[in-house]
Amino acid sequence: MIIRVGIPVSPGVAIERAFVLEAEDTHIAERFIPPEAVEGALARLERALERARADVREMRERYAEVLGDETAQIFRFHELMLQDRSLLDEIRRHVRERHYSPEYAVSTAFRSRIRMIRSLHDEYLRQRDVDLYDVERRVLRALRGTRQEELQSATGEVVLVAHDLTPSQTATLDTSKIIGFATDVGGRTSHTAIVARALGIPAVVGLGSLTTEVTSGDLVIIDGTKGRVIVNPDEDTLRTYRARRRQFIEFARDLAELRDLPAETRDGHKVTILANIEFPEEIGAALDSGAEGIGLYRTEFLYADGKEPDEEAHFQAYHAAVEACDGRPLVIRTLDLGADKMTDSIVQLEKNPFLGCRSIRYAFQRPELFKTQLRAILRASAFGPIKLMLPMVTTLGEVRRAKLMISDVMDDLEREGIPFDDRIPVGIMVEVPSAALIADFLAREVAFFSIGTNDLVQYTLAVDRVNERVAELYQPSHPAILRLILGVIEAGWRHGIEVSMCGEMSGEVVYTIPLIGLGLRTFSISPGTIPEVKKVTRSITVREAEEVVDRIFTFSDARQTESYLQERARRIVPQLF
Ligand code: PEP
Ligand code: MG
Repeated sequence: MIIRVGIPVSPGVAIERAFVLEAEDTHIAERFIPPEAVEGALARLERALERARADVREMRERYAEVLGDETAQIFRFHELMLQDRSLLDEIRRHVRERHYSPEYAVSTAFRSRIRMIRSLHDEYLRQRDVDLYDVERRVLRALRGTRQEELQSATGEVVLVAHDLTPSQTATLDTSKIIGFATDVGGRTSHTAIVARALGIPAVVGLGSLTTEVTSGDLVIIDGTKGRVIVNPDEDTLRTYRARRRQFIEFARDLAELRDLPAETRDGHKVTILANIEFPEEIGAALDSGAEGIGLYRTEFLYADGKEPDEEAHFQAYHAAVEACDGRPLVIRTLDLGADKMTDSIVQLEKNPFLGCRSIRYAFQRPELFKTQLRAILRASAFGPIKLMLPMVTTLGEVRRAKLMISDVMDDLEREGIPFDDRIPVGIMVEVPSAALIADFLAREVAFFSIGTNDLVQYTLAVDRVNERVAELYQPSHPAILRLILGVIEAGWRHGIEVSMCGEMSGEVVYTIPLIGLGLRTFSISPGTIPEVKKVTRSITVREAEEVVDRIFTFSDARQTESYLQERARRIVPQLF
């Protein structure tokens, strides 16, 4: 029996024989062609590109309906890559001017893109390198006239073990055969993880060298809840996991039934669950999972390709978002560039980026860029209800300054006769301790607060949120954090403004009860966690939640609070622990 621990990315338990997917050899030899073969090679290249485009289009159409928008989005992204003029011209130039073989030209151009994307600071973007690999392999296969058969050759139900799965491999898994998967590499935000969750297949990634330890036919348990993979388990272990699998299947059935039920406590208090998104294309899937609107649209992802979008590009994105929300709430956050987001592409590198010129500070340094975005948001506000949210506010002066700029932009639009919502609510993220501590002052100036615990925890506890070496100290249940959250919620009550929370803390079931007990009624979370948060919400009364808060406020240590809260949540959703 071998036990390996990796990163749990999609909960549940799968027990089956392994199918080990051999890695595709992508090593392309350095090959050149004679001058007279160039035209023929270019024609072969164009045919292969066309074939690859047709394949992706077919996959998108075939799988979009079954797998939803998020997955279709991956293929849309692949289609865009296959139309990317600068990439394609580079490949053609390699063939025409350097006389590279088409295979070598394709590989050279893609590899240089992959190196570039890997050097980015943003983890989400860095992980998009698998998409580039995926498209590269597809074009190479089209050039060679081969198709990928390996996955189809699996017979009967199997758990898939692979070094890595490309997004399209993952998306096209035959779920009637493949009931779980484990990969050597990958991270929480990789597409494999996203798609695994969309498919509801238990999955563990980041297992190191599992593929070298498993042979096709071995019996494998994948525990996607705890991140464990067990190869050739003994009888006792097998019995335990069979019971866990049964429990999880019942749990998933329960959750699915909650989809159309309201998020309200057992004693009838309404909780609003909104979703966090990075791209407007995610809105459809978020609403399908039960979101009542969008509580955080992280617009800085418009800068993901390293280019500065113009007003029209901003407007198109916000217009698409407001249309997709169709009258439901939509909170658009202004640019949160810098630190962990898009640093290489637009913001200067700094020694201390989290304490530097990020977010609203950067917006003030680039007023033309900020005003361009404000104009686009305001223009989109004529098409449906939009709230505008300012990130990383630390002083009252920043709020006043931003509001002045908004009113300048409104004046311009009015002069130009362009319609907008002149009563657009302007709120702020409360994600820095100073803002939390002066929440009562800030509440007089803004229409709403959204607590950003990702940064609030990092700044309060002095723990870099992206540094795994201090991850142990990143404690949302630290008494300092709980006190700050309570202070912000109470300031909101006193001044009659809405307080929501959009940090990851609000999507973790461990914190659902105390947050309700603290008075939070609006949660903005990753779409995937909506059913479980709803389940916990519907299982408690406000009185019980308040008692939990009374109890944890007597604890002086985050560890004690954490284990108490885990125990409480475990009683409701044991399948997630
Ligand atoms: C936060 O800081 O909690 C937040 C939601 O913003 P981001 O994660 O985008 O910094
Ligand atoms: Mg933040």
